[in-house]
Amino acid sequence: MERTHRCGDIRVEDTGEDVSIVGWVHRARDHGGKRFVDLRDRAGLVQVVFSPEETTEFHRTQDFGREWLVQVTGTVQERPDGTKNEDLDTGDIEIHASDFEVVNESEMPPFSLDEEKRNETREELRMEYRYLDMRKQRVADNIRKRHAFLQACREYLNDNEFLEVETPYLTKSTPEGARDFVVPARNFPGNFYALPQSPQLFKQLLMVGGMERYYQVARCFRDEDTRKDRQPEFTQLDLEVSFMDQDDFLTMMEELVTNALAEAFRVEIETPVDRITHEEAMNRYGSDRPDRRYGMELHDVSDLVKDSELNIFSSTVESGGVVKGFRLEGHADDLSNNDMDDLIEFAQEEGAGGLIWIKLTSEGFESPVESYLETEVMRSLISEFDAQAGDVLFLVADDIRTANPVLGALRRHVAERFGMDAEAEGYDLYWIVDFPMFDEQDGQVTPEHHPFTMPKHPDRLENIDTDDTDALLNLDSDAYDIVLNGFEIGGGSRRIHDPDLQNTIFDILGLSEDEVDERFGWFVDAFQYGAPPHRGIAFGIDRILMIMQDEPNIREVIPFPKSKSGYDYLTGAPAEPRDDQLDGLGIEVTVEKQDEE
Ligand code: ASP
Repeated sequence: MERTHRCGDIRVEDTGEDVSIVGWVHRARDHGGKRFVDLRDRAGLVQVVFSPEETTEFHRTQDFGREWLVQVTGTVQERPDGTKNEDLDTGDIEIHASDFEVVNESEMPPFSLDEEKRNETREELRMEYRYLDMRKQRVADNIRKRHAFLQACREYLNDNEFLEVETPYLTKSTPEGARDFVVPARNFPGNFYALPQSPQLFKQLLMVGGMERYYQVARCFRDEDTRKDRQPEFTQLDLEVSFMDQDDFLTMMEELVTNALAEAFRVEIETPVDRITHEEAMNRYGSDRPDRRYGMELHDVSDLVKDSELNIFSSTVESGGVVKGFRLEGHADDLSNNDMDDLIEFAQEEGAGGLIWIKLTSEGFESPVESYLETEVMRSLISEFDAQAGDVLFLVADDIRTANPVLGALRRHVAERFGMDAEAEGYDLYWIVDFPMFDEQDGQVTPEHHPFTMPKHPDRLENIDTDDTDALLNLDSDAYDIVLNGFEIGGGSRRIHDPDLQNTIFDILGLSEDEVDERFGWFVDAFQYGAPPHRGIAFGIDRILMIMQDEPNIREVIPFPKSKSGYDYLTGAPAEPRDDQLDGLGIEVTVEKQDEE
């Protein structure tokens, strides 16, 4: 099919040209005996005028329905003054059709493709007809920006001698800590492949193999409950390098990201970006990924309240805990007592014993504990937080490991409630470094990142009692995250390349030799062959796109997304296997099929 121009590309400079274009009928209306049709292709919309005088077989244009695909030949003409449309790139011109051909008719689409009506369509329906949904500019733009961002990353990495390498999808369990998706293997009855949660082990083996710099746009599969920014399959820009220290590596990675953001989104972010330790982030914001644009830093007021009559303050400080809090500017009048009860409940669900709120008023202050708060204490709190009438102080008295994250969660919750995150301007891009080495879950020490992460001070491990959980939880690692506007957009670490140290870590994690052998023996063996020092990172492409495109969730930026519960409305997956698929696999399905709600 021959076309001379794309619909959305034609400009006033083309006036007088004979053109041939192909596009979908976006909208059609009659006016003064003529028919005005907006034709749309990937480049955008253009107005076509069909008239009895100019257009062969004009009467047939009456049949045009929405989304019919029509080829038009005609002449570009400048629109008369007063009819130009500034909102449209092609708004200065229109095409006067001399001839046309219906290339393909269309059923009436199940929902409107008008951009303005986007929120009126159920998301399930949009997913079912994603090929129609992506005819809308906003979805199409997300797909284009995804391409632009990835290409810019590739270009930077290629220029810096990275090799793009693919790693297997049918593999053995990988250690990111989520549940695996498994695939039954017909040739090995009773055995299953696991889909990779990340290319972690393979990229490390590429370093052992001497590849030095690797990257991949990798699909990762994690069988987790999906959330706003999670999907069962998602895309990482995955990287690994040998022989680079943390400083040089983070500098290179922030250059990669800021370059690609500039290329794809025309956004300038100044470098170097901040590097703050995990400890500092937790102390100042109660989070390992704070959005710093809306302030509300946490203050430790233990010293100010330690002698207060309010027992919860004095006794918490006496027993080694802290009293910390933050100030919400204004909004005292927007929070009723019921709202405050909800916030207390929120803090309790996050693990705090309670939450104390103090509203500053023009007469003084208001709080459930107001009769216990001495004037002196109040005065010092007001000065510490620089609080004014109309502000609210939120305080938590607890041990620091509880107080910080509870306040961090509350800070985010309150900011979301008052739209402070949405209103915040600019981009807050920075590194969090020195993550703890270990976490504790249900009494068991677990890796904070993954079991192959290098401790920041390996020598400290030598003198540690590996049963001393508190001492272990205080160890730092050479692990880092990169954060953008309150979302973790990437994370990585230096890896252990010394087999003895790796065995010590396995031991701390309670992994027996047999278990290690069975799960990662193939991987650990490689480190006996002169493994180089190496480190890496993986960036969450979907999240980056979601943030930059200002979308409410990552499904909007994934070309073919799944629902919140992991259902694919387009293909109807997951689905029951056919009997002939099960034959030979030695698998019998014993549960009843459940339908997507
Ligand atoms: N594989 C890690 C992850 O998916 C990233 C890394 O350590 O490079 O979080």
